Order: sequence, then structure tokens, then C-alpha cells
Amino acid sequence: MKENTGHVVVVPYPSQGHINPILQFAKRLASKGVKATIATTHYTVSSICAPHVGVEPISDGFDQGGFAEAKREDLYIESFKSNGSKTLSQVIKKYLDTSNPVSCIVYDSFLPWALDVAKQHGLYGASFFTNSATICNIFCRIHHGLLTLPVNIEDMPLLVPGLPPLNFHDLPTFVRFPQSNPAYLAMKLNQYSNLDKADWIFDNTFEELEGEEARSVSQQWPGKLIGPMVPSAYLDGRIKGDKGYGSSLWKPLSEECIEWLETKPEKSVVYISFGSMVSLTAEQMEELAQGFKESNLHFLWVVRASQLDQLPKWFTDSTKEKGLIVSWCNQLEVLEHKAIGCFVTHCGWNSTLEGLSLGVPMVGVPQWADQLTDSKYIEEIWEVGVRAKEDDKGIVRKEEIINCLKQVMEGERSQEIKKNAIKWKKSAEKAVSEGGSSDKNINEFVKSLMSSKG
Ligand code: UDP
Repeated sequence: MKENTGHVVVVPYPSQGHINPILQFAKRLASKGVKATIATTHYTVSSICAPHVGVEPISDGFDQGGFAEAKREDLYIESFKSNGSKTLSQVIKKYLDTSNPVSCIVYDSFLPWALDVAKQHGLYGASFFTNSATICNIFCRIHHGLLTLPVNIEDMPLLVPGLPPLNFHDLPTFVRFPQSNPAYLAMKLNQYSNLDKADWIFDNTFEELEGEEARSVSQQWPGKLIGPMVPSAYLDGRIKGDKGYGSSLWKPLSEECIEWLETKPEKSVVYISFGSMVSLTAEQMEELAQGFKESNLHFLWVVRASQLDQLPKWFTDSTKEKGLIVSWCNQLEVLEHKAIGCFVTHCGWNSTLEGLSLGVPMVGVPQWADQLTDSKYIEEIWEVGVRAKEDDKGIVRKEEIINCLKQVMEGERSQEIKKNAIKWKKSAEKAVSEGGSSDKNINEFVKSLMSSKG
């Protein structure tokens, strides 16, 4: 009989920014000899490419179109809870009489019902937060009644233990304007609803980056350290020469991007992406387009198919020589390319970590949710970029874009930013390498899993 290696089922929330880090985590476990299986919705299952990780479909009740079919957050979450609980249980049962029964469920913190499933089956449960420790800290305080909403603009800066002073414009949208999206805010707070039953709490960050922020969260959950701290280990694949992992909900135009980048001088290209969810207004797209054109730099811009209509008609033809527009790319491959000199990002947490881990200076153009807080850290705490300022209408004007690109690509400040970017790249590499802080944390987790399996 094959040896029981311990078996962890990981369950992502099925959006791109949540699947990616949990898949990287599963890959990391597999590289440590643990059997890992990703259980994801029917709609997203075919996007997974993971040679050494098992894949099992579960149901969110919208098997043909996922969230887009449900249309409403509250409806979707309810449906995923009832259908997901049943189908995840079936996955656990499927492995019951095999040589590798499931020992632990690592679930996206947006899906607290998965912890209940783990406990019903007598398994370990670990909550995996895909946002920063800073964000965990803020919402955890709200959950514990240590911070009440709405926050008062007069009380700024907000002083949260373990965090730098935060101004109103640094706070997540749902903290600034709790009524703006009640369903989303509820989802954020629900992450903590049964967390006292979790055996571990993981966060996609690393000690050197947010150690103090994470420790401050763990004080609110005595006996439950935030850790192992697990940066998505993008670099892990690079270290081991294994590039076969990933998930793409849209088809990436990889070859086209790389071929184009190969023709450009080192560190000359601005890569622009607003991730998988942000929708920019036509006015904002126009300002960005003007800014990129007038900067006269090479650019590679990801404009998702759903956003193409907002791109000004004049732009595509008049900038052909300088730029490439694609509907989706392999972001890690692009960020890693030597031609990339700057990343204009919406500051989603994955993009922030990816830019930071691959040493690319950034211009933050945050739009909503946690992105505002992430951009503060990019500019003021890690000093690896600048944050573009909006006008009173909430639009980043072309002059601001031009100015930010100058600061990052060529100005006096750019030298400091580039130096810091390299420093953080090295630090992230070290954290995931053998003996590094994250590697030790993962080993700790694997050890306790192995020593306790039946
Ligand atoms: N991404 C990608 N190709 C693209 C744009 C984005 O592979 O053209 C990936 C990116 O590497 C990141 C994820 O999509 O891992 C986006 O996550 P993030 O947290 O940055 O933003 P979200 O999409 O959740 O707003």
C-alpha cells in the first residue's frame, strides 16, 4: 500500500485573485511531499493547470456561468454555501477508504462554511486569507468591536496597533463607506464568524513584509498564530525551474506578449493592468490613454474584453508603434521580463505581491476595496513606487499619470525606488527559499499535519 503522506484539500473562492494564491499554496504543499487536491467550482475547474495537484469539481449552484450567472453577491454566497457544503463533503467521502484520506481543509476565508464541513468530518481546518495582514487586522478589529463603522473623518489618522497611521483615503472602501456594498462588507466580516474553530490561520504575506501587522492580528486570536505566512510562492517555481502551474479564467496571449517584449530595450516598458475585476469609466480610460501616449514610453496594456468599448477609438491606431494592447496575459511571465521597467497597477493584493516579489517599481492607481491601503504601503512603507492622486471627481488625470511615470522611470526618486524594489525582491526570494521565514512556516505546518494523521 502507498504511504499516507497527509492529504490537504484546498478550496478557493472562485475568482482569479483568489484561485491564484491558493493554487500556489497547494503547489508548495505538493513540493513538500503532501498530497494536495484543489476543490473548485465547475465553472473554474478547467482553468487549473497543476501537474502535481489533484483537481476535484464542487458546485456553487451556478455550474454554467459562476458568479456572472448569479449576478448578486448575497445570492451567490448563499448558493455556494449550500451547494458547496454538500459537494465538498462528497469529495471528502470519496477519499475516505483510500491510502490518502483527507486530513485537512484549507479554505479561502470568504468561505467559512468549509470549516464547518471540515469539523463535521473530524478534520483539521485552516483559513487562508488572500489579502494583506494589514487588511486582516482592520476587519478583525471591526469584527471584535474594537473599531466601529462608519469611521469618522474627523478622527483621522486612524491609529491601529501594528499599523502605520492611516488617513481616510488609505482605508478600504468598505470601511470608508460601509453602505457602498453591504453584501461585500458582510462577506469580509463573515470571514471571522467561526474562526475560533480553525486550527490554523494563514495569510498570503511574509514575515519581513508584514511581520508586525500579522502579530497584531494574532493577538486578537490568542493561541492562533497567523501563520505559516505564505507568500504565494511564485518564486518557488522559478527557483525549482517548475513553471507548469497556473490558472487563467481568460486565454492569455503569452507568445504575443513575450515576442513583443523581446524587441524592447531593458526596463523600457510600462506594464499596465487593473486585474480581473476593476471596470474603469470611459473618462478614466481616456485620461490614462492620453497619459501613456504623451509619456512616449513603450507600454503593454491589459484591457479585458469587457472594457474594450471604453478604450478611446483614436488610441489604438495612433499608438501602434509604442504599445501593445492585449485582453489578458500571463502576468508573472510579463513582470519577470527584463524589458519591464514599471507596473501601473490597481494594487490588488496579488498584483502588489507579484510586482514586489519580482522587483518591479510600481505606480498605484487604486480603485476600490483594499487597493487603497495596499497603495499606501507601496508608496510610503515599502517605498517601491508612487500612488497616483485622483481629482475631486475621483479621476486620475493624464498630467498625474505622466508625472508618476516620470518619478518611477527617470526622476531622482526613481533611483531610490529601484533600489528598494530590488531589496524587496531579494527579501521575498529569501522568505520562500529553503530555511527562509515562509519555508520554515510551511515546514512547521506540514510537520504538525504529519505527526497528527491517523
Ligand atoms: N492576472 C493575469 N493576467 C492579467 C491580469 C492579471 O494573470 O492579464 C493575474 C495576476 O497575476 C493576479 C490576478 O490575476 O494574480 C489578479 O489578482 P489581484 O489580487 O491583483 O486583483 P483582482 O483581480 O483580484 O482585483
